[in-house]
Amino acid sequence: MDISERLSKFIDEHTDEMVADTMKLCAVNSEKGAYEEGKPYGEGPFKALNEAMDLCEKYGFDVTNYDNYVAAVDMNDKESGLDILAHMDVVAAGDGWTVTEAYKPIVKDGRIYGRGTSDDKGPAMCALYAMRAVKELGLPLSRNCRLILGTDEECGSSDIKHYYAIEKEAPMTFSPDGEFPLINVEKGQFRGSITKSFDGKLKDRDFIYIKGGTTVNIVPGKAEAAVCGLPLSDILPHAKELEEDTGVKFSFSENEGSVVIAAEGKGAHASTPENGKNAAIALCTLVAKLPLDESERRTALLNFLELFPYGVTDGSGIGIKMSDQVSHATTCSLDIFEMTEKELYAKWDARTCASSNHENCVEPAEKSVREKGFDVETDFLPAHVVDGDSDFVKTLLACYEKYTGKKGECLAIGGGTYVHELKNGVAFGAVGDTTDTHMHGADEFMIIEEMKTAAKIYAEAIYELCK
Ligand SMILES: [Zn+2]
Repeated sequence: MDISERLSKFIDEHTDEMVADTMKLCAVNSEKGAYEEGKPYGEGPFKALNEAMDLCEKYGFDVTNYDNYVAAVDMNDKESGLDILAHMDVVAAGDGWTVTEAYKPIVKDGRIYGRGTSDDKGPAMCALYAMRAVKELGLPLSRNCRLILGTDEECGSSDIKHYYAIEKEAPMTFSPDGEFPLINVEKGQFRGSITKSFDGKLKDRDFIYIKGGTTVNIVPGKAEAAVCGLPLSDILPHAKELEEDTGVKFSFSENEGSVVIAAEGKGAHASTPENGKNAAIALCTLVAKLPLDESERRTALLNFLELFPYGVTDGSGIGIKMSDQVSHATTCSLDIFEMTEKELYAKWDARTCASSNHENCVEPAEKSVREKGFDVETDFLPAHVVDGDSDFVKTLLACYEKYTGKKGECLAIGGGTYVHELKNGVAFGAVGDTTDTHMHGADEFMIIEEMKTAAKIYAEAIYELCK
C-alpha cells in the first residue's frame, strides 16, 4: 500500500470514532459568555476547549493551553511547518431547529446534525484525525504540524490575537473553517459611520423618523418611517411607483395625524449586497419623493441618497468603485440608517478589492461624505491575498483533487475568515463546494462522507507539507 492508501484506510477505520468525538464536542453549548477569571469567553467555550484538549491528550499529542483562549496540539517538537487553525466556539443556537435540538447532536441520513457540526467542531475533528493518521502510521516528518483550537472566532477572533502575541505565525497555515477547494483571497473591509445633527424642530409637513437596519454586516430587510401633515392618499402613488421600481413592499398605518410607513425588502449578507433589497434606502427614497416642506433635514436626506442611491452596491456613490483580476469588484452596502428630529446616523460596510488602499478608497470616501455635509469616521482592513501559484497552495489543491476527483482552484470571497491577518494563511475546506450545511442557521449539519474526504485530504497535506 502506498502512503495515500494507508492514510485513507486509517480514516475509514476511524470514522465512527471521529463522528463520536465530534458529537461529544457538539453537545457542549460553547456560545460566547461573559468573561470570568480563567474563562475569557465564559463557561461554554472553556468547557468545549477543555474537552477537545482531553481528546488530543488521549491520542498522545502534546497540548499547550494558552490561558484558555487557545489550545495548541503538536505532532512533534521539530521546527514549525504547518498550522491548522480551527475553533471550538459557536454562534447562538437560534430558533427553528426541527431535526434535533441544537446541543443534542444526532446522526441521521449520513449526516451529523447540531450546532457546531460544520462550523467548526466537525472540521476541527477532521484535522485532528488527519494528524492521528500521520502519527499513528508512523510517517516520518521533518517539521511540526500544529492544530490551533480557538474559542472566539465568531465574535472577533480576539483569541488568536492573544495567541499570536505570544507565538509566531507558522510558515504555512490553513483553516478548515471555510469550504473547498481553497480561499486565498479575502476582500478588504471598509466600514464608515456617518452622522449629522439637526435643531430638532419639525415642519408642518415633515418626516418624523426613518429607521432601518440593526447589524453592520447585514443589508436591512425591514425599515420604518413616520410622516406628518400629509394624507395617505398623497403617499400612495409614490409608494406604488417605487414598489414597481425596487420590489420593496410598503404598508401603512395612520396614527394621530401621522402616517407610519413600513418597508419590507430582503436581507442579505453585506459581502453580497446585490442579493438583497435594501428596505432602509428604499424607504429613504420614498420619503425624499414626498411633497414635504423644505428643511435642512430634507436636504440632508437628498444628499445622503446621492451617496447611497437605491440599487447601487458598487460603492460608486462614495467614490470607491473598483475591481481587479484577483478579487473582483468592491461591494458596498448601507446597513444601518436612523434619522430622527435631532440627528442622522448611518453605517456602511464595503468589501474592497485587493488593490483598494488608503489613497484610492478611504480618502475619496471620506471626502465625498464630508462634501455632502456629514461627519464621517472610517475603519479600513486591507484585503488578504496569498499567492495562488505558491507551492503551498498548489500542494493543498493537489491533495484536494486527489481525493475528490474535482478540479482544485482558488476562490476569492467578500467575507473575512480566521486567517485574514496571517501572511500565509488560507481557508481550506472542510465543507464540500456544493453543500449548504446551514452554518449559523437552524438544523446545521455535516455530511459524514465529506468529513472522511476532508480528513484524508488534510492527512495527505500534512504529510506532503511537513515530510
Ligand atoms: Zn467558523
